[in-house]
Amino acid sequence: MKSKIKKILIANRGEIAVRIARTCHELGIKTVAVHSDIDSGSPHVKCSDESYSLGAPKAGESYLNAQKIVEIAKKAGVDAIHPGYGFLSENAGFVASVENENIIFIGPGVDAMRKMGEKTSARRLASSLGIPMVPGSLDAVKNEKDGLIAAEAVGYPVLLKAAGGGGGKGMRVVRTPHEFTDNYRIAQSEASSAFGDDRVYIEKYLQNPRHVEIQILADNHGNAIHLGERECSIQRRHQKIIEESPSTILNEELRRLMTQASLELIRASGYTNAGTVEFIIDEEMNYYFLEMNTRLQVEHPVTELRTNIDIVREQIAIASGEVLGYAQKDIAFQGHAVECRIYAEDTTNSFMPSTGQITHLSSPKIHGLREDSGIETGSMVTTYYDPLLTKLITWGSTRREAIERMTDVLNHYELFGVRNNIDLCLWILTHVKFRDGVYSTTFLEREFDKKLLEEIPSDLLEIAAITAVHSTLTGNNLLHKNKYTSGSGWISQRKEHMG
Ligand code: ADP
Ligand code: ADP
Ligand code: MG
Repeated sequence: MKSKIKKILIANRGEIAVRIARTCHELGIKTVAVHSDIDSGSPHVKCSDESYSLGAPKAGESYLNAQKIVEIAKKAGVDAIHPGYGFLSENAGFVASVENENIIFIGPGVDAMRKMGEKTSARRLASSLGIPMVPGSLDAVKNEKDGLIAAEAVGYPVLLKAAGGGGGKGMRVVRTPHEFTDNYRIAQSEASSAFGDDRVYIEKYLQNPRHVEIQILADNHGNAIHLGERECSIQRRHQKIIEESPSTILNEELRRLMTQASLELIRASGYTNAGTVEFIIDEEMNYYFLEMNTRLQVEHPVTELRTNIDIVREQIAIASGEVLGYAQKDIAFQGHAVECRIYAEDTTNSFMPSTGQITHLSSPKIHGLREDSGIETGSMVTTYYDPLLTKLITWGSTRREAIERMTDVLNHYELFGVRNNIDLCLWILTHVKFRDGVYSTTFLEREFDKKLLEEIPSDLLEIAAITAVHSTLTGNNLLHKNKYTSGSGWISQRKEHMG
């Protein structure tokens, strides 16, 4: 590929920054890393050609500091900025300020990002196209009274969702009108502190749905294709843990309808670059549009292993104005892929974040394994950023083979120093319902431990974060003493993974 992009600033950290740099190196593109003070020795900095400091660890002062990042991009003379996921990746104001400096933003244009990135706006567009949607409000509710009326109209249980939300944050299930007021206030305040936007809307809360999403690629010349689906129903607190492709429930007809709906949305919004259209499917196999993620998705490697297409490479080609190198008929799907997100968290203690130093890390050499990692031995894990440490992705010619390989990988993966969810992933992979492919987004709360998966009030999470920092400093894990502690038996069998 002859790209006009010769140098890219990667406005992110952790595994995704490392992964983007890898493709850049393959393409002979120079990379510029940015980092907070505590990340100065991180793998994402070490693997880049140049690096610049952003300042204090808090995301607001570092990875979310749009102005500073644009200044560094100018100073370093980059042609483009890749935002990764999270942080500024879905911030249309950031895109505008990047483009203002004649720097290419590797992602959709400002208009399409505004239309599709904000959830109520995307719902309005989907609704105008006649795409099936979860019943609920098309606009954010104006106040509590308005919300109660909307909830009554939709029928309980309902889900309060942040219009600007993401990463499973700012979401509350409300089962009766009596629970509405408290949850409405909590959702508003969570949304406001996580996304700087307290607008909340209402959806019918579907029982035991499956989360299935479609990866799309669209160029600036009117060509758009899909790269199939990913099933992401294994979740905790509405955030994904294990993803796989193909989905075990999609039949050809449903797949055709969902990919068609996704491409319609892309065309109607003028969307370009890589994006993901998310759906949920109910127990009667009805599909509903959920939201669109206007960025590279965490679980994109699952699709890369099945299609042999490097999505980051395509993102760069599209951003530099090239015509999509593939027509739909060129896309061939092979075998099965599974991803486990390895998080620094205590699965026996309400999935509270775990912090500390990675004292030992060793990944097994197993054929068919891809690892996208953001850590190394000696890395410090803090609560400043997302608890995702590394992603393990296996491929197999059949689902069974991919899962067997993953089981083998997890059994031999050595990660000491912080508590993590490797044991949980193993437990899931060997669970008969997962093996049979009959699971939904409520799998963990039904099969694992409902109590551990209750929505945790944000103030408790905050206390946990402070306690975790404290325990890192003192070497004491105080988190173990709170009321959510459970003595689940399976976890004790693999103590070596628990730090
Ligand atoms: P994906 O949607 O790619 O499967 P997640 O939902 O797990 O991934 O989100 C990935 C990361 O991006 C998390 O750190 C999450 O907190 C962050 N994130 C996602 N959406 C937003 C958003 N709208 N604003 C801020 N951060 C977000
Ligand atoms: P986020 O922006 O945080 O990713 P999503 O709208 O994609 O938010 O929803 C995240 C998850 O929350 C879904 O995968 C699903 O498990 C759950 N969820 C979202 N909306 C509903 C709903 N209406 N009914 C049931 N579960 C839902
Ligand atoms: Mg989502």
